[in-house]
Amino acid sequence: MVPFVMGGTVDDATLLRRHGLQVTAQRLAVLRAVSERPHSTADDIDKIVRAEIGAVSRQAVYDALGILTDKRLLRRIQPAGSPARYEDRVGDNHHHLICRTCNRMVDVDCAVGYVPCLTAADDSGYEIDEAEVIYWGRCPECVSSTRLAAGG
Ligand SMILES: [Zn+2]
Ligand SMILES: [Zn+2]
Repeated sequence: MVPFVMGGTVDDATLLRRHGLQVTAQRLAVLRAVSERPHSTADDIDKIVRAEIGAVSRQAVYDALGILTDKRLLRRIQPAGSPARYEDRVGDNHHHLICRTCNRMVDVDCAVGYVPCLTAADDSGYEIDEAEVIYWGRCPECVSSTRLAAGG
């Protein structure tokens, strides 16, 4: 049983109910796993959840991720050429930096702050509500290890 929280932070069970979702052990474990390890892949989350609650099928974990993303309790980031990652930081328009070498992903606040933060040269009449920005490059560790390898 999750105790009822008066004020302060809303617990995950309350969050699920507010979004019209049934509270299940799988969904709670998935939410917890994503908040502890943001930007994890579905595979990573599956491993964490299984280690925690044991008897849960891979499909159940994937289903939970799907519905939590649909209800916008989680955000799914789909970088080109790599598996989707999940995070629970959903209330803002932040972006991501990804290292091409080690795949490490970190948050970067949106410099503009509102959506869409990039104006399309021609919107073709679309009502645009988001510009998805991913910055690709190399993280400091990978940059310095290449420098070391190059002997400089
Ligand atoms: Zn790296
Ligand atoms: Zn993020």
